[in-house]
Amino acid sequence: MLKTKSNKEKYAVVVIDMLHDFVYGALKNDRAKKIIPPLKKLLSHARKNGWLVVYANDAHLPGDPEEKVWGAHALAGTPGAQVIKELMPEKGDVVLPKRTYSAFHETGLDLLLRQHGITKVIVTGQHTHICVRHTSADAFSRNYEIYIPENCVESFTDEDHKGGLAYLKMCYGAKITSTKEMMK
Ligand code: ZN
Repeated sequence: MLKTKSNKEKYAVVVIDMLHDFVYGALKNDRAKKIIPPLKKLLSHARKNGWLVVYANDAHLPGDPEEKVWGAHALAGTPGAQVIKELMPEKGDVVLPKRTYSAFHETGLDLLLRQHGITKVIVTGQHTHICVRHTSADAFSRNYEIYIPENCVESFTDEDHKGGLAYLKMCYGAKITSTKEMMK
């Protein structure tokens, strides 16, 4: 079992696709830059408090379904599929490669969370209306409580970001929160 300094709450923070291709490369998104500092703070808080930090990283093979929609991105083993240097995983973090939008799809995430007795999942990264949404859908159907710090998720447009948040709240009962709130 995971040792927590605070027995009150046990969270996992899932960091989705904060990869070179998603911030600076093939699917470059300038809007993602502003979530880096708050996410960095949240991850540091998480590690200090013994929360589980999980990176769910696109690691595509050529011909994966998404290639038809987005073109080639985050190919496994390429620099584009590396976590950006600002948010590099640290000792004790878990890195799970994925080939679809959801961090739960064929990654072992559900087993990992259950091994740690975790029922509360903080979903962060990109994109609010795509991978964050698909991950939340799978978290919801597996009965996890979902927390979305709105300053730690982004999309390509404000409309997609805000629409994504509204959908997460309406459909999965996600708590739309902030790093300030989560770090209290
Ligand atoms: Zn992808």
